[in-house]
Amino acid sequence: MSNPAISVDLRSDTATRPSPAMRQAMANAVVGDEQRGEDPTTAALEERVADILGQEKALFLPSGTMCNQIAFLVHCRPGDEIICAANAHVYGSEAAGAAALAGAQFRPIASGTGIFTAAEVEPLLRAQRHRSPRSRVVTVEQTSNRGGGRVWPRAVIDGLAELCRAKGLALHMDGARLLNASVAAGVPAAGFGRPCDSVWIDLSKGLGCPFGAILAGPAGFIEEALVWKHRLGGAMRQSGIMAAAGLHALDQNVERLAQDHANARRMAGILRGVPGVIVDPAEPETNILFLDFSEAGLPATQVAAELAAVGVGVSVEEGFRLRIVTHLDVSDADAETAANAMAETIARLSGNVAHVDG
Ligand SMILES: *Cc1c(COP(=O)(O)O)cnc(C)c1O
Repeated sequence: MSNPAISVDLRSDTATRPSPAMRQAMANAVVGDEQRGEDPTTAALEERVADILGQEKALFLPSGTMCNQIAFLVHCRPGDEIICAANAHVYGSEAAGAAALAGAQFRPIASGTGIFTAAEVEPLLRAQRHRSPRSRVVTVEQTSNRGGGRVWPRAVIDGLAELCRAKGLALHMDGARLLNASVAAGVPAAGFGRPCDSVWIDLSKGLGCPFGAILAGPAGFIEEALVWKHRLGGAMRQSGIMAAAGLHALDQNVERLAQDHANARRMAGILRGVPGVIVDPAEPETNILFLDFSEAGLPATQVAAELAAVGVGVSVEEGFRLRIVTHLDVSDADAETAANAMAETIARLSGNVAHVDG
């Protein structure tokens, strides 16, 4: 179909556009030179996020990727080792930044859910001897993106924090979707953030801002992070324009994440009955789900192209896997319409139209 009846972009929660109210907040922002510490709106955002995450200080940065990279630069010396999930964003989606910038190497843990425990980490800690890398950081991703938006339980994070403290490692949290986890689990964000030595949230995912992220930690950590921010060219000027969008999003767009989670569950409910596809997780915890076509042998690129033709944007994850992400710009009706269109398309492609339930 050349002119699809619907148009729903489920490729990522980065697809959101700033709303008229957010643009208004940006237009009204009081600003100054951030690099000189004179932007009051940026300072207000940093204070607010430090508080939300249960940390002493925070630093406004252009992106979540820069939050991760600066955290590793502060925590690590060249030759240090960072323990992460094998499907983590830091490991596979940041252009090997930890190696290129901090000179650190990763020790990946295979985990389909992206979640691992202190008991799994402990045997991986290196003996302290001259020929071994120095185990230095454990990094967790709240929620786990490639783990299907699963939430790290608080007890698992507490267990890792205890191990890290005992062994002299830093616990870092990539909190790109930490607020999704907080809303889904009914745990205040500080419950996940406080046990960590560094933690950040993204403004450009579920919160719906054009860009920006805030890295938080103890005062000494943030002091060092500020040096790296400048060194990497992350220092800004009238950044209050963006910080105002962030403050607006923290006021307006956090509680409503529950709606994105409900839409992901609604879509999973519609797609679960369709032959040829496995929905993972079958009951999404947050706003991410995967569709697996390996049993039907349908290449993800083919399914994605057919879905694009009916007006539904999805992202190809690997050979037989697609990712769907719900967000602020996907209404309840959009989610249902898109899921029904997807169900029809998938059933047709897998040649099982007659077997569709309901
Ligand atoms: C998007 C994302 C990042 C990077 O954030 P940017 O603001 O796009 O640089 C890091 N980690 C995870 C889990 C993400 O989903």
